[in-house]
Order: sequence, then structure tokens, then C-alpha cells
Amino acid sequence: MNIKTVKYIKSCVSLKDCPNTNFPEFAFIGRSNVGKSSLINALVDQKIAHTSSTPGKTQTLNFYLINEKWYLVDLPGYGYAKTSQNTRKQLIKIINEYLINRKQLYIAFILIDSTIPPQKIDLDFINNCGQKQIPLAIVMTKIDKERKLIIEKNKNAFIDELSKSWEILPPIFMTSSTKKIGIEELLKYINNILQTS
Ligand code: GDP
Repeated sequence: MNIKTVKYIKSCVSLKDCPNTNFPEFAFIGRSNVGKSSLINALVDQKIAHTSSTPGKTQTLNFYLINEKWYLVDLPGYGYAKTSQNTRKQLIKIINEYLINRKQLYIAFILIDSTIPPQKIDLDFINNCGQKQIPLAIVMTKIDKERKLIIEKNKNAFIDELSKSWEILPPIFMTSSTKKIGIEELLKYINNILQTS
């Protein structure tokens, strides 16, 4: 898919604040510092999301209209230790509200850092989404940052963990925003879904 136009629409603090439109939505979420902003920027090939020196700063749901056809939704990061417990609770509430109730949500892309072994917080988040039947895909980030062997080991460990509760695994994409690996595949995947919907 060629990205022809990218329009920032709005930032929302609750579900009822979200745009009242029927465009298909593809959301991106992960722990702070997982590489979400970098991935979003690589996908649309321009700087729309701010890569942060202050992780955890996206605290709104940010809507971008792509090619006048679909929304890319940048969701707040979960599990950032330095935000207060209240803020974290509030964020989880907004995220869940959106993921569970938003009818226009086609796929939630859950980002996972491929350079580290499986983390409980990520597995819990994914398993929760699975239980609530939220359509999701996994995007492993930063695959250029470690040796291939380590990335492969982390990926396999992650699959092993997921296999404990998933009969059919969700799609898993291996990406590097820095080296532009897997970006085209992700766009193709979105495009296929748009064309068959
Ligand atoms: P966010 O907090 O999830 O939005 O993460 P950022 O996109 O701001 O990235 C967090 C850090 O990881 C930054 O220092 C990025 O430069 C780095 N990073 C993100 N993606 C990649 C990648 O594909 N490869 C490498 N080597 N570093 C990355």
C-alpha cells in the first residue's frame, strides 16, 4: 500500500470523544519504549508520532486518517512504571474501553520488544485481549538491535508462552523501524484486510 495522505484528526481522552465515523481503524499499542512511535513513523514514512525521551507521554488516543480510507490509532503505552498508579489505572481504563467497545476497530497491533525475553505484562495484556475477542496481531520490534540468534530465541519463547493459552496463534510480524524491515508486510496485511472488508 502506498501512503498518499496522512491527516492528523484528533486526540481523544475517552471512547465517546472518538471520531463519529465508519472508517476501519488499526490501532497500535505496547509498553512505553517498545518502539511504537518509530514504527508508526516508519509505516507512514513521516514523523507523526513523537519518539520520546520521556516514555509514557502518549496519554491520549491519537487518530490519523490515512489515504482518506482508514484510521491509524496511536494508543497510550501501558505499564510505564514512572506514571502514578492513578494515571496508569486511568490509561488502562481508556485503552480497554476503546479496545472492547470500538466497533470500527479492525485490528489492534500489539508491539513486543524482540530484544528481551517474554514479559508477563505483555503476555497478560495479550491474553486479556484474546479472552475479550479483540482482533489482534503481534508486532515484534527492534529486530536489528540484537543478534539474530537472540531475536529468534525470544520469539520462540514468546510463541511457547502464547501457545499455553492460544489454540491458533495470532499473526506475528518481525520488524525494525530503523532498518525498515517488515514495514511493507505490515502495510500489505492492512491493505488485504481493507480490500476484503
Ligand atoms: P515508544 O515509547 O514506544 O514510542 O518508543 P520509541 O519509538 O520512542 O522508541 C524507543 C527507543 O527505541 C528509541 O530510542 C528508539 O530510537 C529505539 N528504537 C525504536 N525502534 C527501533 C528499531 O527498530 N531499532 C532500533 N535499534 N532501535 C529502535
